Amino acid sequence: MTDALDRLRRLIRDIPDFPKPGIQFRDITPLLADPSGLALAVELLANPYRGKYIDLVVGAESRGFIFGTAVACCLSAGFGLVRKPGKLPYKKIAKTYDLEYGTDTLEMHADGVIEGQRVLIVDDLLATGGTMTACIDLVKSLGGEVVGVAVLIELLGLNGRDKLDVPDVHSVLTYE
Ligand code: AMP
Repeated sequence: MTDALDRLRRLIRDIPDFPKPGIQFRDITPLLADPSGLALAVELLANPYRGKYIDLVVGAESRGFIFGTAVACCLSAGFGLVRKPGKLPYKKIAKTYDLEYGTDTLEMHADGVIEGQRVLIVDDLLATGGTMTACIDLVKSLGGEVVGVAVLIELLGLNGRDKLDVPDVHSVLTYE
């Protein structure tokens, strides 16, 4: 297992000071381009939720779409989209959340989750937890049961997981 995780870690490229000074950007594009690395990442994201009767995987634009859809296929679940404002064509609900400077908003179709569905939320990376909290709130406000949250990368120093009111937070790789 350690070898597998080391292999994934080597496929994530660190870009200092992107998109602004002081941010160490974890670039997953080398991992996405690597056939066995991509398959391994998806498998390790999905594995804890096999047999947990997940009805729907939800992911936020845009990297949450990539991993979320792949995990949904692994779990024989559907996929629900969380998008930036103005992108969804049908009736929708919105959630505004705090950023370091200012706020941002995410939206979901009003019928994007059916009441009582068991939902897993997937993203590439958990930093402050703002994005994930907004996703959780959107799913819950539509009556979904958030069974867990799965991310490829967790940035431990930002304590994002402490903000998440869910029974389970699963991260494949952690960074200090
Ligand atoms: P947050 O809402 O602070 O938890 O940020 C999570 C979202 O921002 C994820 O969807 C990531 O794609 C992106 N993100 C935040 N910090 C980084 C980082 N250091 N490297 C790459 N992506 C990041």
